Amino acid sequence: MSDLQNTNQPPRPGVVVTGASGRMGQMLVRLILDHPELRLVGALDRPGQPWIGQDIGTAMGGAPAGAIVTDDAVTAIAQAQAVIDFTTPDATVGFAELTAQARAVHVIGTTGLGPDHLAALEAAARHAPIIRAGNMSLGVNLLVGLTRKVAAALGEGWDIEVVESHHRHKVDAPSGTALMLGEAAAEGRGTTLDDVRTPAREGITGAREPGTIGFAAIRGGDVVGEHDVIFAAEGERIVLRHLATDRAIFARGAIRAALWGQDKGPGSYDMHDVLGL
Ligand code: NAP
Repeated sequence: MSDLQNTNQPPRPGVVVTGASGRMGQMLVRLILDHPELRLVGALDRPGQPWIGQDIGTAMGGAPAGAIVTDDAVTAIAQAQAVIDFTTPDATVGFAELTAQARAVHVIGTTGLGPDHLAALEAAARHAPIIRAGNMSLGVNLLVGLTRKVAAALGEGWDIEVVESHHRHKVDAPSGTALMLGEAAAEGRGTTLDDVRTPAREGITGAREPGTIGFAAIRGGDVVGEHDVIFAAEGERIVLRHLATDRAIFARGAIRAALWGQDKGPGSYDMHDVLGL
């Protein structure tokens, strides 16, 4: 975490990574340590996590990085220009308050947020920029736009289903990405997902209701993330598909968002804003 900088260059924004020991956290730490425009100023994890007090680089099995993993979110976030956060909904809401106080950019990849969590984030976004997306990859965000267009072009004679697969550790379903795709399809049809969503089916469900959007989730192994949006009509089907093979795509998107947000005012943003889609 060398702080030596060319004096002619603007200072590199300092980033705190939350959930630093997690799958996304470790990926982010690695990419930020190698990043020419950012510096790692903090690695946060939950109290009791075995890495607390250790150098994050050493804990990950590499060279020392000069940042000690801490559970002191108040002190860590006070020094940040950006917080990149892939943790849990409750943890994210707590970090949002501190990030707003620090007037830093909060990049949120955490999924599974409920209405209360979202309301708390809206309140925090009145003080600092929050960039949140259920999927930070360029490919998926393009797929969201395509889904909206295809749904708008096709009539209600086309049934829409979203099918997603993820690794065995994922704790929420449908995935944040599946919900983004479902929302885009609903918007394309001029409605909202809440009005047309059919949760996972089991048992005697009855025939499919016209105009609804269905979700199915597969969990297993080390699948990084696969999403199909199926448009099915009499005699033909269109399948829009995204396959993620490396979680670095999400981390790179989050880092891009942290940089993009540096000159933005308070408010809620998403990856469509960041990518200019
Ligand atoms: P993970 O490996 O379980 O990592 C989550 C990390 O957060 C763990 O290290 C966990 O610590 C830590 N954590 C939990 N509570 C905390 C707290 N109060 N303070 C600080 N750290 C805390 O999960 P992951 O695969 O990295 O995914 C994390 C989240 O990102 C999930 O919601 C996932 O769906 C989402 N995600 C989003 C995208 C996207 O593009 N938006 C992409 C991938 C994943 P312990 O393990 O010790 O509890």
